[in-house]
Amino acid sequence: MAPDSARSEIVTETRTALVGLSRDALAEAFRAVDEKPFRAKQVWHWIYHRGATEFSAMTTLSKDLRAKLEKHFVVGRPAIDRVQTSTDKTRKWLMQFDDGQKAETVFIPDDDRGTVCISSQVGCTLTCRYCHTGTQRLVRNLTAGEIVGQFMVARDSYGEWPTPTDERRMLSNIVMMGMGEPLYNFDNVATALKIVMADDGIALGKRRITLSTSGVVPEIRRCGAELGVNLAISLHAPDDDTRSVIMPINKKYPLKELIQACRDYPGASNARRITFEYVMLKGMNDTPAHARALIKLTKDIPCKFNLIPFNPWPGTPYECSDAATVERFAQVLWDAGFSAPIRTPRGRDILAACGQLKTDSERLSAKEQRLKDAQEAEAAQAAWAEKEAAI
Ligand code: SF4
Repeated sequence: MAPDSARSEIVTETRTALVGLSRDALAEAFRAVDEKPFRAKQVWHWIYHRGATEFSAMTTLSKDLRAKLEKHFVVGRPAIDRVQTSTDKTRKWLMQFDDGQKAETVFIPDDDRGTVCISSQVGCTLTCRYCHTGTQRLVRNLTAGEIVGQFMVARDSYGEWPTPTDERRMLSNIVMMGMGEPLYNFDNVATALKIVMADDGIALGKRRITLSTSGVVPEIRRCGAELGVNLAISLHAPDDDTRSVIMPINKKYPLKELIQACRDYPGASNARRITFEYVMLKGMNDTPAHARALIKLTKDIPCKFNLIPFNPWPGTPYECSDAATVERFAQVLWDAGFSAPIRTPRGRDILAACGQLKTDSERLSAKEQRLKDAQEAEAAQAAWAEKEAAI
């Protein structure tokens, strides 16, 4: 583990940040300072294709115009509070925004791709029990600029500017799977992702972007219609009793509604399957009967599973299922014809589970929470035992 750099000052800025403005909003900002919309197009290209962070670098603009832009605007990037790079090359940033709030971004390199995991909120309103961020209260939604800015900082870090014109990108994929529930901040997430997808800038196609949700059913349809990105669902259990313990949002949007929203998701096909994320929790959701129930639940959906060995964090009520149990679980899914890779844990030496770097947000009392979790888990397991015989 290596702390690569640190920056902690809070920037006080009154000029308008351009990163995160939609194309129309950028043109409007230029009109407001008596500049023609085509100038906005030029600046868009400098910011999102060339990666310019200062107006002084925009050498196709006149000196006078650069000075004028400098007076009214800033390009805008999150600051970096902390960076850690794992021995397996996973890199994690704690980003700091203009008001001092912080959120995490993670880069996970693979042989044929590199995925940037982006946060959508500071903290979270939800309390998924396996998730460290779920112990931190929601502070606020991130703006569109703060969301797209995380990806831009990651690209700064690897010098991936200007945008590569061929398919060989180091930072080739985005998952909206960091801190927060992206569908509870949909407007800002949508603006940010539309900027990322725009052809004359970062130009990352929708097939390279995955939005992961805990299951906010009404917004899943909107996400499909407006963005058309890949969908991942944090599923984690095949029955309402168990899932409501692991993910209390299940009480609001139970499995029947969630699975129907997946069936209806526009663009889902065998070529673009929905991903069901499934964290392996010892004694909670990891038996062959759970796997068989999953098969039954998802049988008519073009989907794949992503089995995630639980990455424990201090104070968690759960343990990771042992390797043989995970293998046995996967085998049941494989035998039924599903793709169900077991995710290799990444960045364990830098605590890369969601929310672990951000230690200064408010937390619930770990002891109190553990007691509550144990009681709920016991009740869910009893309910599951009753059902198991019927599967
Ligand atoms: S898993 Fe996502 S939605 Fe659930 S508590 Fe963690 S950050 Fe929030």
